[in-house]
Order: sequence, then C-alpha cells, then structure tokens
Amino acid sequence: MADAHRLHALEMELAGRKLIPVNEDYVSQRLIEMDMCFRDAANYRKALTAVELEVLDYLVMKRGVTLSTASPLDVLSYLVCKDLGKKVNTVVHMRACPELGARTRTACKCPVRMNHASLDSLIGRVRRIFNDAGRTTEWVPESATGNPCASRPVKEYLRAVKREQSMAGVTPNQAVPFFRDKLVQLVLHINAELRKERSRLKGEESALTLTLVRDRAFFCLDLHTCKRGGDLGKLLIPQIIRLPDGSGLMFNMTVSKTLRGGSSHSFGCKRATDNMLVCPVRNLEGMVATFKGAGLNMSGGYLFRQCSKKRACTSFGFGQAYLQSAEISRNLKAYLQAAGIDDGESLSSFRPGGGIELAMVGCNMFDIMEVADWKSAKIANHYLKLREVLGKDSPADKLARLGGSAQSKAGREAYRKANLLRAASIAFK
Ligand SMILES: [Zn+2]
Repeated sequence: MADAHRLHALEMELAGRKLIPVNEDYVSQRLIEMDMCFRDAANYRKALTAVELEVLDYLVMKRGVTLSTASPLDVLSYLVCKDLGKKVNTVVHMRACPELGARTRTACKCPVRMNHASLDSLIGRVRRIFNDAGRTTEWVPESATGNPCASRPVKEYLRAVKREQSMAGVTPNQAVPFFRDKLVQLVLHINAELRKERSRLKGEESALTLTLVRDRAFFCLDLHTCKRGGDLGKLLIPQIIRLPDGSGLMFNMTVSKTLRGGSSHSFGCKRATDNMLVCPVRNLEGMVATFKGAGLNMSGGYLFRQCSKKRACTSFGFGQAYLQSAEISRNLKAYLQAAGIDDGESLSSFRPGGGIELAMVGCNMFDIMEVADWKSAKIANHYLKLREVLGKDSPADKLARLGGSAQSKAGREAYRKANLLRAASIAFK
C-alpha cells in the first residue's frame, strides 16, 4: 500500500517536468556502436596475444624461464631464432656476394633474415609484454631487474642488425603506387562483373552485386583522398556532409591509425567533371542508393559495411559491422588478377599513388602531406621520391611543359619507366 502511495506521489511530482527522452532506436544504435568499439579493442588484444603466446612458449618451453625471470640473453635468443621463422624474407647478401644489392637471390646461399623494421616493431611489442607483467623500469644489470627489452644488449642487437642490412643494401619495401589509369581499368572490370551478375539475376541484388558496388566506391574514394584503407573502413555516415552546391562531399574523420578520439581530420572530394567513371562522389552516391534499395539502413552506422556469410539478421550478408582491410585487400587482389592487371599493388598502394598524382598536377609537398596525413617530409619524400619524379629537368618536369591532359598520363608513364629503370639499373654486370 505504501508503495502505491509513493508511486502516486512520484507521478504527481514528475508531471510537467522535463525528463530524458526515451528513444529505443538510439539505444540500439548506441549499443551496436559500443559493441563495435569493444570488438575493435578486442582485435588489438588478439594481435598482441599471438606474439605473447609465441614469447611465452619460447621462454618457458625452450629456455625454462618465465616473464618475471627472463634475462636480456633470453630475449636475444628469441629474437635471433625469429630469423629462422616462416614469414622471414629479407635477403641479406654477404659483402663478397656477386648479387649484393639485389632484393632477391638466385644462385647464392646468403641468409634470409627478419627485416630490421619488423624487428624494431617486434621488440616494441615484446617490451610491452614484459611491461604488462610488471617489469616497467629500464634494465639494471647489477640487480638483474627491469625490462630485459630495455637493456643494452637488445638495443645493440637492433642497431647491429640495422647496420648489417644497410651495408647489404636492404631498402625498406615500398608499396607499388596505384595510379588513376589503373583505377579506370579496375572500375571497368568491376562494372563488367556487375553487368554479368545483374543480367543473371534479372535486376535483383545479391551479396556479389552489393560487394562489387561497395568496392568500386571504396577504391575511387581511396585514390582520390589518399587515405589508409583501414581508416576509410571506419568512416561513419554522419561524418559525411554534402557541400551546399552539391559539388562534392566533406568527411570528418575522427578515428584513424594516427588519430584517436578527441581530434579529427577533415577532407573533401569533389564531383568529377570529366571522367565520371571513377568519380568518388558519384560512385558513393550509387553505393548508398543500392544498399538502401537492398533494405539496409544507411542513415547511420558505417559507410562501408562488412560482408559476412556467417551473420544472421542481415541483408545479403551485410550488417552493421565495418569493412575490415583484410576483406577489401583480398577483393582488390582478386579483381586485379581476374582483370590481368596485377602489378603487385595492394591496399597500401593507394596513398602513395594518390600522393604522386597530386604532385604531378602541381600540388606542393605540404598540401600533399596534409591530405595524405604524412607526418614528416621524410616519409612523404620516401613515397613520392619527389627529387626523381619532379626535380628540375626530370622527365616529369619536361613533360609538364607539354601541358594539357596528356601531361598526367605521360607523367605516370615516366614514373613507371623511372621505376623500372631503377629496378634494373645495375650498369656493370
Ligand atoms: Zn648473396
């Protein structure tokens, strides 16, 4: 009875007051988002656990120590043994080897080792594992305490490996740039596949047609905005604004590899006036319309959705999860191979390709660094090789004087030739 009175009193009290709105759509949307956010973090944990397991296995089973007793020597032993692993593919030619300077080996028996850049990042991960196990300080040899990865022997080993590889002429692997003319070929291939599938289905959609439409929009946007593929996959629909005159779209990215919560990176892309085939705006609009037509809610959530055959309650395998780079990378490779235009490009080819395209139409380095989110001129240069591509009296410089639309096409060709020449420029053999 007392409860009924209290409830009545509460109702009287609340009448006419402003309360928090109840919005079930909001609740479910928010819970889905947080679930994705959580899974995102879980993915990172999984990657760490793979290294963790390997390190633990090595220390405990092969060296008879634990995370709290391992010494720098145990860590070194693990790092050296990594050179015998499966994914190791950097050929380090001996100084007397006739093939010194080549990326591969044909006749010699020089060793294959872990690339120094990979070693560097592996040491960072192992260091973190010890850190998480409570060994947070620098290594103190006298008391044999602290983080064994933060010890002099490990640091010196890394330095020695770097030196050995630079003496052997091991250069960092650069992604093969993906250019606009290749994008045209890729889109033509996707369009042909799309026509084939749609005529088979007589106008119906399928997981394949949706995937083709999504991938086409993704590749066009990636090349025109010079973004990391993984970051584009996390773009949210509400972060996209249409320019008032309809001439293009503005994106406001808040999550990327180098950007975490709290700040954002804005970029835009304009509607093409000449080559509509690879226009990112047109292809994106086409994708959203197709997905809406297939019954997907495109008013919120991720712009590019993952296609999974396993998940229930989805349209053609598309749900709310974001497109992961593994899926789009796999598709890219398959399209390039099927179209017979595979020159070793990958998802990481779009950023350098887009950057070089910008350089060829006359954008300055700082603008390109801003667009492609390159933090230093050194990294930008590494990708752009500006001195070779655009330096005074370089092929591109000469071609620039030709002007017109032939310019960029010829410039690309010049870049490709310069690239091939560099690969085959051993003059005295
Ligand atoms: Zn050799």
